[in-house]
Amino acid sequence: MMTKTFAAAKINLTLHVTGQRPDGYHLLDSLVMFADVGDRVRLEPADAISLEVKGPMAAGVPADASNLVWKAAALYDLPVAITLEKHLPTAGGLGGGSSDAAATLFAMVDLTGNTTMPEGTTGLGADVRVCLARQAARMRGIGEDVQPVEGVPELHAVLANPGVAMSTPEVFAALDEKQNDPMPKRIPRWRGAWSAIDWISKQRNDLQAPALKLAPVIGDVLAALSALPGARMARMSGSGATCFALFEDRGEADAAADDLADAHPDWWVTAATLR
Ligand code: ATP
Repeated sequence: MMTKTFAAAKINLTLHVTGQRPDGYHLLDSLVMFADVGDRVRLEPADAISLEVKGPMAAGVPADASNLVWKAAALYDLPVAITLEKHLPTAGGLGGGSSDAAATLFAMVDLTGNTTMPEGTTGLGADVRVCLARQAARMRGIGEDVQPVEGVPELHAVLANPGVAMSTPEVFAALDEKQNDPMPKRIPRWRGAWSAIDWISKQRNDLQAPALKLAPVIGDVLAALSALPGARMARMSGSGATCFALFEDRGEADAAADDLADAHPDWWVTAATLR
């Protein structure tokens, strides 16, 4: 038996850094959604665990036991041959590794029929929890507190990454003020994309300023996204360098993504629908 799972890109529509614990972990308050673009994970029972990494974004992704898909699969007794097809930029703020790990866990549930997650899943990474939710969610604490947010309208986006890999710890280290306001207590029930985008645009990504200091090209990405016809707002996701612009209409996002890709052939650019 063989099983395939989709590992959706995680977009932090907001990312408020609200504190730092004595052990160094940062406290977050983030609204996360998932895109219809992502990696693909294929698993097949085998004599021993193995990993092949392929696809347009495979370069530089470890194909050994340090890969999160390997670590996730190794939590089970069943050895599997893993094929990981990378479409998401690595170290790009889209939670690629975490989403790949979550997809592997879902695939292992499929293969083993065992629906209880093994011990050690949280040790895979702070974003694995939210990636297991696979739906719009509010993430708090150090990522362990995940509350699904119901009724969030579908949003359309252009995603753009200028090809610089960002180290998440370095971006956090470059953040001067660790204690910032959380999001409003209640996330409203939006009537449609327009009101959701309006609310989101009033929130922040506190990692955007420090990431900009480390990689000024992110400023060019944000400016280019903001200038796209139909773009309602632009912001960075996670610790960067991928940024997103939000649209009310998928057709507008598709056209804008084509324009942006033509203007910046060296950037990774795609239209996406967020859920
Ligand atoms: P986040 O938004 O959670 O900070 P990210 O998208 O910035 O994540 P990843 O793409 O998950 O970052 O990669 C971070 C590092 O993890 C990479 O530099 C890579 O060496 C390692 N890694 C381990 N497993 C994977 C994987 N499956 N895909 C990509 N990178 C992986």
